[in-house]
Amino acid sequence: MKGRYVILLLSLAAIASVTVIQRRGARSHAISQPVSTPVEVTYIANEGFLIASGEQKVLVDALVREGVKPYPVPSSATRERLEKAQSPFDGVDLVLASHFHPDHFDPLAVAEHLANNPQARFISTRQSVEKLKTAFDRYEAIESRVTGLLPKEGERMSLTHGGINLQILNIHHGRNRPFENLGLLFEVGGRKFLHIGDSEASADDFKSYDLVKDKIDVAFIPYWYFMSDDWKRAIRQHLKPAQIIVMHLPVLSEKSEFIEKRGGWTKVFSDIKAEFPNAVIFEKEMDKTVISGQ
Ligand SMILES: [Zn+2]
Repeated sequence: MKGRYVILLLSLAAIASVTVIQRRGARSHAISQPVSTPVEVTYIANEGFLIASGEQKVLVDALVREGVKPYPVPSSATRERLEKAQSPFDGVDLVLASHFHPDHFDPLAVAEHLANNPQARFISTRQSVEKLKTAFDRYEAIESRVTGLLPKEGERMSLTHGGINLQILNIHHGRNRPFENLGLLFEVGGRKFLHIGDSEASADDFKSYDLVKDKIDVAFIPYWYFMSDDWKRAIRQHLKPAQIIVMHLPVLSEKSEFIEKRGGWTKVFSDIKAEFPNAVIFEKEMDKTVISGQ
Protein backbone atom coordinates (compact mmCIF):
# COMPACT_ATOMS: atom_id res chain seq x y z
CA MET A 1 0.00 0.00 0.00
CA LYS A 2 1.61 3.22 -1.15
CA GLY A 3 1.10 6.61 0.22
CA ARG A 4 0.75 7.04 3.94
CA TYR A 5 2.19 6.89 7.37
CA VAL A 6 0.52 4.72 9.94
CA ILE A 7 0.62 6.11 13.43
CA LEU A 8 0.48 3.60 16.26
CA LEU A 9 0.25 4.46 19.90
CA LEU A 10 2.82 2.85 22.15
CA SER A 11 1.58 1.96 25.58
CA LEU A 12 4.80 1.68 27.53
CA ALA A 13 4.31 2.81 31.09
CA ALA A 14 7.26 5.18 31.22
CA ILE A 15 6.44 6.87 27.93
CA ALA A 16 3.80 9.53 28.18
CA SER A 17 2.91 10.17 24.57
CA VAL A 18 5.16 8.41 22.15
CA THR A 19 3.89 7.43 18.75
CA VAL A 20 5.43 5.03 16.30
CA ILE A 21 5.26 6.27 12.76
CA GLN A 22 5.63 3.44 10.30
CA ARG A 23 6.38 4.59 6.83
CA ARG A 24 4.24 2.71 4.38
CA GLY A 25 4.79 4.67 1.22
CA ALA A 26 5.35 7.85 -0.63
CA ARG A 27 3.00 10.53 0.72
CA SER A 28 4.15 12.16 3.89
CA HIS A 29 1.72 12.94 6.67
CA ALA A 30 0.85 16.58 7.00
CA ILE A 31 2.89 18.45 9.57
CA SER A 32 1.61 21.94 10.19
CA GLN A 33 4.07 24.62 9.16
CA PRO A 34 4.14 27.32 11.81
CA VAL A 35 5.66 30.65 10.92
CA SER A 36 9.32 30.42 11.83
CA THR A 37 11.22 32.68 14.20
CA PRO A 38 15.01 33.09 14.36
CA VAL A 39 16.77 30.09 15.87
CA GLU A 40 20.20 30.28 17.46
CA VAL A 41 22.47 27.24 17.19
CA THR A 42 25.37 27.28 19.65
CA TYR A 43 28.28 24.88 19.37
CA ILE A 44 29.39 23.34 22.67
CA ALA A 45 31.85 20.53 21.89
CA ASN A 46 32.18 17.59 19.50
CA GLU A 47 28.53 16.81 18.53
CA GLY A 48 27.07 18.95 21.32
CA PHE A 49 24.77 21.89 20.53
CA LEU A 50 22.16 24.17 22.05
CA ILE A 51 19.29 25.00 19.69
CA ALA A 52 17.14 27.86 20.97
CA SER A 53 14.30 30.06 19.78
CA GLY A 54 12.25 32.14 22.19
CA GLU A 55 11.04 29.82 24.95
CA GLN A 56 12.05 26.64 23.13
CA LYS A 57 15.42 25.09 23.91
CA VAL A 58 16.97 21.76 22.99
CA LEU A 59 20.34 20.38 24.07
CA VAL A 60 21.81 17.59 21.95
CA ASP A 61 24.89 15.50 22.86
CA ALA A 62 26.06 18.35 25.10
CA LEU A 63 26.11 16.86 28.60
CA VAL A 64 29.56 15.35 28.45
CA ARG A 65 32.36 15.15 31.06
CA GLU A 66 35.52 13.17 30.23
CA GLY A 67 34.65 12.49 26.60
CA VAL A 68 36.90 10.47 24.31
CA LYS A 69 40.25 11.70 23.02
CA PRO A 70 40.94 13.47 20.62
CA TYR A 71 37.44 15.00 20.61
CA PRO A 72 36.77 18.25 22.46
CA VAL A 73 34.71 18.36 25.67
CA PRO A 74 32.98 21.38 27.24
CA SER A 75 35.33 23.68 29.17
CA SER A 76 34.88 23.46 32.94
CA ALA A 77 32.99 26.81 33.05
CA THR A 78 30.58 25.71 30.32
CA ARG A 79 30.18 22.28 31.86
CA GLU A 80 29.20 23.86 35.17
CA ARG A 81 26.55 26.06 33.53
CA LEU A 82 25.26 23.07 31.57
CA GLU A 83 24.90 20.86 34.64
CA LYS A 84 23.49 23.60 36.88
CA ALA A 85 21.04 24.56 34.11
CA GLN A 86 22.28 28.15 34.17
CA SER A 87 22.02 30.67 31.35
CA PRO A 88 22.15 30.10 28.44
CA PHE A 89 21.33 26.49 29.39
CA ASP A 90 18.38 27.38 31.62
CA GLY A 91 14.81 26.48 30.70
CA VAL A 92 15.87 23.64 28.38
CA ASP A 93 12.86 21.52 27.35
CA LEU A 94 14.50 18.54 25.69
CA VAL A 95 17.84 17.02 26.59
CA LEU A 96 18.76 14.58 23.84
CA ALA A 97 21.64 12.15 23.42
CA SER A 98 22.16 10.28 20.15
CA HIS A 99 23.82 7.37 21.99
CA PHE A 100 25.63 6.44 25.18
CA HIS A 101 29.28 6.89 24.16
CA PRO A 102 31.09 9.26 26.53
CA ASP A 103 31.89 11.82 23.82
CA HIS A 104 28.09 12.30 23.48
CA PHE A 105 26.65 11.55 26.89
CA ASP A 106 27.67 11.39 30.52
CA PRO A 107 25.04 9.86 32.81
CA LEU A 108 25.88 12.00 35.84
CA ALA A 109 26.02 15.21 33.80
CA VAL A 110 22.53 14.44 32.45
CA ALA A 111 21.28 13.54 35.94
CA GLU A 112 22.61 16.84 37.36
CA HIS A 113 20.94 18.87 34.63
CA LEU A 114 17.61 17.09 35.12
CA ALA A 115 17.80 17.54 38.89
CA ASN A 116 18.45 21.27 38.41
CA ASN A 117 15.84 21.82 35.70
CA PRO A 118 12.44 20.28 36.50
CA GLN A 119 11.02 21.09 33.06
CA ALA A 120 13.65 19.11 31.14
CA ARG A 121 12.88 15.73 29.67
CA PHE A 122 15.70 13.37 28.62
CA ILE A 123 15.36 11.23 25.51
CA SER A 124 17.99 8.81 24.26
CA THR A 125 18.58 5.14 23.50
CA ARG A 126 17.67 2.35 25.91
CA GLN A 127 21.42 1.77 26.36
CA SER A 128 21.92 5.37 27.60
CA VAL A 129 19.00 5.05 30.00
CA GLU A 130 20.53 1.86 31.45
CA LYS A 131 23.77 3.80 32.12
CA LEU A 132 21.80 6.59 33.77
CA LYS A 133 19.91 4.14 36.01
CA THR A 134 23.13 2.49 37.16
CA ALA A 135 25.15 5.66 37.65
CA PHE A 136 22.70 7.96 39.47
CA ASP A 137 21.74 6.92 43.00
CA ARG A 138 18.66 9.19 43.10
CA TYR A 139 17.31 7.87 39.79
CA GLU A 140 13.68 7.71 41.07
CA ALA A 141 13.74 11.52 41.38
CA ILE A 142 14.16 11.92 37.61
CA GLU A 143 12.80 8.63 36.28
CA SER A 144 9.46 10.07 35.11
CA ARG A 145 11.33 12.48 32.82
CA VAL A 146 13.65 9.88 31.26
CA THR A 147 12.78 7.92 28.12
CA GLY A 148 14.87 5.33 26.28
CA LEU A 149 13.70 4.46 22.78
CA LEU A 150 14.79 2.62 19.69
CA PRO A 151 12.45 2.32 16.72
CA LYS A 152 13.09 -0.36 14.11
CA GLU A 153 15.24 0.74 11.20
CA GLY A 154 13.13 2.64 8.70
CA GLU A 155 10.52 3.48 11.37
CA ARG A 156 10.06 6.57 13.47
CA MET A 157 8.75 7.34 16.93
CA SER A 158 7.48 10.76 17.87
CA LEU A 159 6.65 12.81 20.92
CA THR A 160 6.02 16.41 21.86
CA HIS A 161 7.37 18.18 24.93
CA GLY A 162 7.33 21.91 25.71
CA GLY A 163 5.67 22.49 22.34
CA ILE A 164 8.61 20.88 20.52
CA ASN A 165 7.89 18.04 18.12
CA LEU A 166 10.53 15.33 18.12
CA GLN A 167 10.83 12.31 15.85
CA ILE A 168 13.27 9.55 16.68
CA LEU A 169 14.90 7.53 13.92
CA ASN A 170 17.13 4.48 14.08
CA ILE A 171 20.30 5.47 12.20
CA HIS A 172 22.99 2.81 12.61
CA HIS A 173 26.41 3.45 14.13
CA GLY A 174 28.26 1.14 11.69
CA ARG A 175 27.21 -2.41 10.88
CA ASN A 176 30.28 -3.78 12.65
CA ARG A 177 29.76 -1.52 15.71
CA PRO A 178 26.06 -1.97 16.42
CA PHE A 179 25.57 0.50 19.26
CA GLU A 180 22.09 1.98 19.38
CA ASN A 181 22.26 5.37 17.67
CA LEU A 182 19.36 7.75 17.13
CA GLY A 183 18.59 10.20 14.40
CA LEU A 184 16.90 13.14 16.14
CA LEU A 185 14.52 15.18 14.00
CA PHE A 186 12.98 18.10 15.87
CA GLU A 187 11.29 21.44 15.26
CA VAL A 188 12.40 24.58 17.04
CA GLY A 189 11.11 28.02 16.04
CA GLY A 190 9.25 26.45 13.12
CA ARG A 191 12.50 25.05 11.66
CA LYS A 192 13.45 21.39 11.27
CA PHE A 193 16.72 20.08 12.60
CA LEU A 194 18.20 16.61 12.08
CA HIS A 195 21.11 15.37 14.23
CA ILE A 196 22.39 11.96 13.17
CA GLY A 197 24.83 11.22 16.00
CA ASP A 198 27.65 8.88 15.01
CA SER A 199 25.82 7.66 11.95
CA GLU A 200 27.50 5.45 9.43
CA ALA A 201 24.24 4.94 7.54
CA SER A 202 24.67 4.74 3.78
CA ALA A 203 22.77 6.61 1.07
CA ASP A 204 20.48 3.56 0.73
CA ASP A 205 19.85 3.42 4.48
CA PHE A 206 18.75 7.07 4.42
CA LYS A 207 16.67 6.51 1.30
CA SER A 208 14.33 4.25 3.28
CA TYR A 209 13.56 7.16 5.62
CA ASP A 210 12.40 9.45 2.80
CA LEU A 211 13.74 12.49 4.65
CA VAL A 212 13.63 14.79 1.63
CA LYS A 213 9.89 15.09 2.33
CA ASP A 214 10.65 16.43 5.79
CA LYS A 215 12.31 19.49 4.23
CA ILE A 216 15.15 19.65 6.72
CA ASP A 217 16.37 23.17 7.45
CA VAL A 218 19.55 22.21 9.28
CA ALA A 219 21.33 18.83 9.36
CA PHE A 220 24.13 18.12 11.84
CA ILE A 221 26.47 15.75 10.01
CA PRO A 222 29.75 14.15 11.18
CA TYR A 223 32.79 15.15 9.11
CA TRP A 224 33.42 11.66 7.70
CA TYR A 225 30.29 12.04 5.55
CA PHE A 226 32.21 14.57 3.44
CA MET A 227 34.95 12.05 2.66
CA SER A 228 33.19 9.35 0.68
CA ASP A 229 31.11 9.53 -2.48
CA ASP A 230 28.32 7.34 -1.07
CA TRP A 231 27.97 9.50 2.02
CA LYS A 232 28.05 12.72 -0.01
CA ARG A 233 25.28 11.20 -2.11
CA ALA A 234 23.35 10.51 1.09
CA ILE A 235 23.52 14.24 1.93
CA ARG A 236 22.72 15.51 -1.56
CA GLN A 237 19.98 13.06 -2.50
CA HIS A 238 18.44 11.77 0.70
CA LEU A 239 18.81 14.54 3.28
CA LYS A 240 18.89 17.71 1.13
CA PRO A 241 19.16 20.08 4.09
CA ALA A 242 19.02 23.83 3.47
CA GLN A 243 22.01 24.18 5.79
CA ILE A 244 24.64 21.80 7.13
CA ILE A 245 26.58 21.91 10.38
CA VAL A 246 29.72 19.76 10.25
CA MET A 247 30.38 17.99 13.54
CA HIS A 248 32.50 15.44 15.45
CA LEU A 249 35.70 17.33 14.61
CA PRO A 250 38.64 16.39 16.83
CA VAL A 251 40.77 18.99 18.58
CA LEU A 252 42.30 20.40 15.41
CA SER A 253 45.83 20.69 16.78
CA GLU A 254 45.96 16.93 17.42
CA LYS A 255 47.93 15.09 14.75
CA SER A 256 45.82 12.83 12.53
CA GLU A 257 47.39 10.76 9.78
CA PHE A 258 44.00 10.39 8.10
CA ILE A 259 43.66 14.18 7.81
CA GLU A 260 47.36 14.81 7.01
CA LYS A 261 46.99 12.51 4.01
CA ARG A 262 44.17 14.73 2.83
CA GLY A 263 46.23 17.91 3.08
CA GLY A 264 45.39 18.93 6.68
CA TRP A 265 42.23 20.45 8.16
CA THR A 266 42.45 23.78 6.29
CA LYS A 267 42.38 21.90 2.99
CA VAL A 268 39.68 19.49 4.20
CA PHE A 269 37.47 22.42 5.32
CA SER A 270 37.92 24.33 2.07
CA ASP A 271 37.08 21.16 0.08
CA ILE A 272 33.90 20.67 2.13
CA LYS A 273 32.86 24.29 1.62
CA ALA A 274 33.61 24.13 -2.11
CA GLU A 275 31.30 21.12 -2.49
CA PHE A 276 28.74 22.16 0.11
CA PRO A 277 28.57 25.98 0.24
CA ASN A 278 25.73 25.63 2.77
CA ALA A 279 28.08 24.00 5.35
CA VAL A 280 29.03 25.71 8.60
CA ILE A 281 32.09 24.54 10.54
CA PHE A 282 32.40 25.61 14.17
CA GLU A 283 35.86 25.64 15.67
CA LYS A 284 35.30 27.37 19.03
CA GLU A 285 33.11 26.57 22.02
CA MET A 286 30.02 28.83 22.22
CA ASP A 287 30.32 29.96 18.59
CA LYS A 288 26.88 30.35 17.10
CA THR A 289 24.92 30.73 13.94
CA VAL A 290 21.42 32.17 13.56
CA ILE A 291 18.89 30.54 11.28
CA SER A 292 16.79 33.52 10.28
CA GLY A 293 13.01 33.57 10.55
CA GLN A 294 10.50 33.78 7.72
ZN1 LIG B 1 29.81 6.62 19.08
